Amino acid sequence: MKLNDILNKKEFTKDDIAFLLSLENVDDVESLRAKAEDLLLTLRGNKVYFRGLVEFSNICTSDCYYCGIRKSNTAVERYQLSKEQIVDAALWCAGQGYGSVVLQSGERTDCAFVDSVVEIVREIKRRSVSNALPDGIGITLCVGEQTEETYRRFYDAGAHRYLLRIESTSPEIFSRIHPEKQSLGNRINCLKMLKKIGYKTGTGVMIGIPGQTVQDLAKDILFFKELDTDMIGMGPYIVHRQTPMASYENDVLARYDDIFRMSLKMIAVTRLVLRNVNIAATTALQSMKPDGREQGLTFGANVIMPQLTPTDVRKNYLLYEKKTCLDENAEQCRSCLTGRIGSVGRVVAVNEWGDRPL
Ligand code: SAH
Repeated sequence: MKLNDILNKKEFTKDDIAFLLSLENVDDVESLRAKAEDLLLTLRGNKVYFRGLVEFSNICTSDCYYCGIRKSNTAVERYQLSKEQIVDAALWCAGQGYGSVVLQSGERTDCAFVDSVVEIVREIKRRSVSNALPDGIGITLCVGEQTEETYRRFYDAGAHRYLLRIESTSPEIFSRIHPEKQSLGNRINCLKMLKKIGYKTGTGVMIGIPGQTVQDLAKDILFFKELDTDMIGMGPYIVHRQTPMASYENDVLARYDDIFRMSLKMIAVTRLVLRNVNIAATTALQSMKPDGREQGLTFGANVIMPQLTPTDVRKNYLLYEKKTCLDENAEQCRSCLTGRIGSVGRVVAVNEWGDRPL
């Protein structure tokens, strides 16, 4: 009885959210899943939006303790795609009807980097205008913490969405997984700047970080709500052995199924609380289980980010180990995903940006 009462609410307290995230019984989790899927289908229909993902450089000045491409990992071969490669990948997306592209990289704030991103965004925007996409392809940037001026320059060049995960809203966790010079406060400021400038703003967290509780995750969801975020990208934390958090490997492996299940419950509960937002079924989910992304869709996700990064450098963009789809080219990735999406009764949207409705 209590479960149904909570599932039918429109406003959720922290305790409601923690209660839903704590569900373990198979039938209860199924009730949560069905409710989230139903709400998504009612509010947004059965379309899944593709955001072609170009991981254009793994050069990074940050040193996040969980991330495989952190500055201090000297075992990674560093790369930077050329402007032509990035623009071509984006135009390929536009030609395929994807509607949107995500440009993601390691974190750099130097002028050469910022100028090149501005130029690339401008060129993609200019060259992707067509009858099918009269305003060009939708561009999302995911290039970390920057100054307000830089965010403005990117926006003026034509990027209209920005993804910056908060990683965890718990001050204790955030400071435990980042070097001192990265702060939760600055990340929150960045998200506020992005919103003020007018970006469709996305954030998210890693799920299953050692020491993270259901209460922490409930607060994360309330933070998404308070920020009035447009998009959510979140997924399981997966250990990378060449990082300071490698020592957590056994702990994380012992909780493997729990972390996967919690990631799905996070999608469903975020759908119920934030209702019409875009939620991604992330690659990290699929890295844990072969049908992880499809399961993410059935728990209320409506966005998928197909890989466009050229296969020869993809192996160098390992944020975590066991990342999937390392050798599939963009074309293979597209047809594989279209089949996977159809298998759970959904369809791929064509030539649409797919923003959250106002
Ligand atoms: N430099 C960009 C892009 C970061 S990579 C930025 O700062 O926004 C994108 C996301 O990958 C990160 O926000 C983080 O949540 C996730 N990630 C990094 N390492 C991970 C790991 N070991 N397991 C799971 N997700 C990870």
